[in-house]
Amino acid sequence: MQKITYAKGDGIGPEIMDATLAVLKAAGARIDFEEIQVGEKVYLAGNSSGIGEEAWESIRRNKVFLKAPITTPQGGGYKSLNVTMRKSLGLFGNVRPCQSFHPFVSTKHPEMDVVIIRENEEDLYAGIEHQQTDEVVQCLKLITRPGSEKIIRYAFEYARLYGRKKVACFTKDNIMKHTDGLFHKVFKEIAAEYPEIESDNWIVDIGAARIADTPEIFDVVVMPNLYGDIISDITAQISGSVGLVGTSNIGQTCSMFEAIHGSAPDIAGKNIANPSGLLRASVLMLNQIGQQDIAEKIENAWLKTLEDGVHTVDIYKDGVSSSKVGTKEFGEAVIERLGSIPKMFKPAKYDSTVSIKIPEYKRPAPQNKELKGVDLFVDWKGSNPDQLAAKLQKLNDETTLTMITNRGVKVWPNGFEETFCTDHWRCRFEVKNGGKFSKLFITSLLNHAIVADIDVIKTENLYDFNGNRGYSLGQGQ
Ligand code: ATP
Repeated sequence: MQKITYAKGDGIGPEIMDATLAVLKAAGARIDFEEIQVGEKVYLAGNSSGIGEEAWESIRRNKVFLKAPITTPQGGGYKSLNVTMRKSLGLFGNVRPCQSFHPFVSTKHPEMDVVIIRENEEDLYAGIEHQQTDEVVQCLKLITRPGSEKIIRYAFEYARLYGRKKVACFTKDNIMKHTDGLFHKVFKEIAAEYPEIESDNWIVDIGAARIADTPEIFDVVVMPNLYGDIISDITAQISGSVGLVGTSNIGQTCSMFEAIHGSAPDIAGKNIANPSGLLRASVLMLNQIGQQDIAEKIENAWLKTLEDGVHTVDIYKDGVSSSKVGTKEFGEAVIERLGSIPKMFKPAKYDSTVSIKIPEYKRPAPQNKELKGVDLFVDWKGSNPDQLAAKLQKLNDETTLTMITNRGVKVWPNGFEETFCTDHWRCRFEVKNGGKFSKLFITSLLNHAIVADIDVIKTENLYDFNGNRGYSLGQGQ
């Protein structure tokens, strides 16, 4: 028996959770269920993240959490429960299988069967933001080697476990050569360890366009956080109904499973919600906890229910559906079909002999890191970069001003008058004739900048790693 934690949540949550639990129990899932409270009531009781001590203890003890949707109350000060869970429990990956169920659920893409695997903790979602000048705010995009290795290896292991043939990677490394470049590089390294699985890399814009247009050419797709956030919603939507999609948030020790839709307060308490998203999330959970036999049984009964035309109102269609049922009755229809195999849809077949295990990250030997210079970021309200350069060139004798950029575009030397400039200038200092750059030069530059009344708002050291440049040049160079 495996103990799991579950929460009924808010809105339609209790109805769809009851239907899901009934199916799990009838299917003989070897599970002990432990209920916790999360969501609206907990928020309103004064807990700003919507989850209390006891609930945390239960999740951390059981390590598997089946969560119904919750409502975050209106007004400020309430933190997203999902973001809190992801970050606190180290749920590094989000897995969202998006499949069409043509002809029973209308979709323009009858052949699609795509799994989006999204990195969940890093990228712009690290939440490190600063206002630096009147006109400029910044958000740090962090891509790490351990984070990329974990999610990409997970994607390949997932493909292997579920008999998938291809893994694609979406990045924008033609622009973000270092951040997305690292994600792509790690993808290539790991792909080489799985020669039986085809792999390819797409620039995210054209990749997203092709997913929206011809999703059937994709199989498993792995990507950094922000792209994954957007593209996984598009992919679920075009599959036909967001009401049918379940998702898993995977960590090294804990995992969380949920439907992708919200608590739908507009239809709560009416017994009309489709419980399929949460039910299918529970199938992902069963696979994760090694109960592939039960996962298969439930998925096949669910597919059979769908092809028998037993539909909830959100997918009901005259001429296609045979009966319109409520939430509870839909669950009962699935229970009646436990043990049946779908005739039109490909039956689910899950392999229980392999499981997804991500090895602990091993830090490689340290690289040879050589300081090559520094970028001083300056708040300056002037408009002619030549004037700024003249002030900066006087700062010290050990270093040379080699470049000024504004919003990444080189404006000095030899800038264009047409380039629009804000009050946020990146000013690069290096040493003449390839000499050694010392950290003491940076403090000297900063001290002299204070005396010269130049407003430096941040510095960024420029390093080579094993002889490879670890920083971007200005656009236009
Ligand atoms: P959240 O911000 O909490 O994710 P949302 O604004 O995206 O919520 P949902 O709660 O997902 O909105 O609801 C969007 C629409 O989809 C609503 O009209 C709702 O009734 C419908 N809907 C959502 N889930 C279901 C479901 N399981 N069955 C039927 N209809 C649903």
